[in-house]
Amino acid sequence: MGKRLRAGGGCALAVLLDGRALAKRVRAQVKAEAEAWSRRTGVVPCLAAVLVGEDPASVVYVRNKERDCARAGLRSRVLRLPAQTSWETLAAHLDALGRDREVHGILVQQPLPPHLDAGAAVACTDPRKDVDGLHPLSQGHLMRGEPGFLPCTPLGVMELLRHHDVPLAGRRAVVVGRSTLVGKPISLMLLAAHCTVTVCHSRTPDLGAVTRLADVVVLAAGRPGLLTPDMVRPGATVVDVGINRVGDTLVGDADPAVANVAGAFSPVPGGVGPMTIAMLLRNTLQAAQALEAVPAAGGGG
Ligand code: NAP
Repeated sequence: MGKRLRAGGGCALAVLLDGRALAKRVRAQVKAEAEAWSRRTGVVPCLAAVLVGEDPASVVYVRNKERDCARAGLRSRVLRLPAQTSWETLAAHLDALGRDREVHGILVQQPLPPHLDAGAAVACTDPRKDVDGLHPLSQGHLMRGEPGFLPCTPLGVMELLRHHDVPLAGRRAVVVGRSTLVGKPISLMLLAAHCTVTVCHSRTPDLGAVTRLADVVVLAAGRPGLLTPDMVRPGATVVDVGINRVGDTLVGDADPAVANVAGAFSPVPGGVGPMTIAMLLRNTLQAAQALEAVPAAGGGG
């Protein structure tokens, strides 16, 4: 049984879905496997991040990814482009990264400046290096239930649920949010895990009437305090993907008092957030292993 979460001085009921601890474990596994694989092959997995402009949060995220790659025994490269970069220039850089045999994973840091289409940029990347799992081909594989790269945040949610033995097959799951980044892919992953899935969004009337029926609630709305204890069936599992800045603190989409009703609960921070980067590192290692296992296209001898 995992640690239990104490919310706001109330009785400690919910099992803590401790993403920080699990992510540490996954990062250690990636490091051990990457180092052993590198010794065998002489290749070090490399993640290339493309950062266009200087959005302050993106600058920090990319710096953290560089740090986390280094700690996990992976290489990283950051392509920093000015905010006024044209579409043609960005597409040419993405094409070059796709051809670069030393690069195994490509990540286009979002948001891009408004004149650049993020979806089109991701679609330009080599799908074999789509470690963010956002390429249309990866999304198609997910929809069809075929193997492929899975997006890191929903994948992190699934790992948290599996690691804590949260029963999924035959259970009712409610996902709050329908974005391409989180809500839709996590809905498909829960469906693949044999949940009966309901997806809610901003037009869903009486959200509580839906969430109260759920065995598992995944929150990905970006609305602090959206889920209150009265909206949760006692004993249900609540995974909070939301990250919201309120004053100087980061909070999720759930009122922390939900931990007094839920059976298991992921905190913010320390829940899904750390899992996202751990999944990115694992996807990068897997991309490198898959790319190095096949001869380069057109490469002779
Ligand atoms: P998004 O693109 O803004 O999507 C938000 C979704 O929530 C939309 O589908 C929206 O409905 C729905 N929504 C908004 N208000 C709602 C309400 N009152 N009731 C029900 N549904 C509502 O956001 P996102 O990219 O999916 O991210 C969601 C949250 O997760 C954000 O807080 C983000 O910061 C966080 N996040 C965390 C991680 C991580 O690593 N932990 C990674 C990615 C995102 P409509 O479609 O009708 O507008």
